Amino acid sequence: MNPLFILPLLGYNFGDLAPMMSAATVETHYSKHAQAYIDNLNRMVPATEWEGMSLEDIARKATTGPVAQNAGQAWNHMMFFEQFNLGKNAKHPSDEFLFLVEQSFGSMEAMRTAFKQAATTLFGSGWTWLVMDDEGHLSVQQYLNDDNPLRHQLRPVLVADVWEHAYYLDYRNRRGDYIDNLWLIINWQVVSSRIR
Ligand code: MN
Repeated sequence: MNPLFILPLLGYNFGDLAPMMSAATVETHYSKHAQAYIDNLNRMVPATEWEGMSLEDIARKATTGPVAQNAGQAWNHMMFFEQFNLGKNAKHPSDEFLFLVEQSFGSMEAMRTAFKQAATTLFGSGWTWLVMDDEGHLSVQQYLNDDNPLRHQLRPVLVADVWEHAYYLDYRNRRGDYIDNLWLIINWQVVSSRIR
C-alpha cells in the first residue's frame, strides 16, 4: 500500500546550507526526525476519522493526542525545510513582503530582532513563527511542541524550529547564534510567496 503522507524532497543537498546548518544536522533532522513524524502518521491515520484528509487539514483540526502531535510536527517540518536554499532569486524578499514587514515592525531589522527575542525566550521545545493575519498584519509567535499557526487562524510565513535537535549538533546551547545564522540561508522567494 502506498503511504498516505510523504516527506517532500529537499530542494537542496544536505551539505548546501553549511556552515550555517551542517550536513549532519540537515540529514539527521530531515531523514530521522521529520521522517519519523511522517512514518508515525502513516501508521496512525488509516481507518480513522483522519483518513482522506490532507496533512495541512489534520495539522489544523487535530489539536490534542498523538495524531495532532505528529501531524503538527510533520507539517511544521515541511514548512521549515521548504524555506531554505540560496538559489537564483532567493536572496531578496518581494517588495510586497518588505512593505508588510515595514508596516508591521518598522523595518526588517526590527522584525529580525523580535523574531530572535521570541526564539531565544521560548522555554522548552517549540517553534518561532512569523505569521500573517487576515488584515495582512505580520507578527511573531511562539508555539510550544507541535503547535502551529493553522490552529490560530494565522498564515504561516517563516519558521525557526527551536527544538534542540534543530541546532544542538552545530551550536550546542547557543540558540541565538543558530537564529542569527538562519537569516543567511533563508530563501526569500519562498518566504515571500507565502504572503500572497
Ligand atoms: Mn525539528
